[in-house]
Amino acid sequence: MKLKSLVINGFKSFADKTQIDFQTGMTAIVGPNGSGKSNVIEAIRWVLGEQSAKSLRSGKMPDVIFAGASERKPLNRASVTITFTNTDRYLPLNEDEVVITRRIYRDGDSEFLLNGKQVRLKDITGLMLDTGLGKESFSIISQGRVEAIFKSKPEERRAIIEEVAGVLKYKKEKQKAQQE
Ligand code: ATP
Ligand code: MG
Repeated sequence: MKLKSLVINGFKSFADKTQIDFQTGMTAIVGPNGSGKSNVIEAIRWVLGEQSAKSLRSGKMPDVIFAGASERKPLNRASVTITFTNTDRYLPLNEDEVVITRRIYRDGDSEFLLNGKQVRLKDITGLMLDTGLGKESFSIISQGRVEAIFKSKPEERRAIIEEVAGVLKYKKEKQKAQQE
């Protein structure tokens, strides 16, 4: 499974439709302060189902819509589309490509599309569960999180490592089995 592309349209500072095609290997996004680097990451978290406006540095969810700038009117709608190559069927969907779109309007109405079909939020979160892309995963590590990991106690750090290594799931299953 590979991240293929990201299309951001009207989300935060991206008033114009912006497409990022990810090549094989590493992609670095660089730019001056305030140029929208963090907004790109937030667009990814948002399209994958982020429900907390606060964690996206917004008051309420419609605030993620482009709010206007000098000589640029605010927009009424934001959308983000993420495309994964899924030829290895890593995501549990029998499709070579998985395309997720999230849209939101000023009045708060929002929708998710999965390969062109309207779905519920829980279909998206369900799809991402156990893939390393879910809400609690470590595939996206924010600046603050790095600091938290460095400052954590050895036991806490061990738990983080176990989670990354996928051991935690088995530990929990073992505990459950022992209780039964
Ligand atoms: P830094 O290097 O400081 O971390 P950055 O490249 O990560 O900067 P971002 O935090 O992604 O920058 O972008 C911040 C910019 O996005 C600010 O200029 C802010 O005004 C703009 N912005 C955020 N939300 C909106 C919105 N809803 N409408 C318009 N602009 C927005
Ligand atoms: Mg930033």
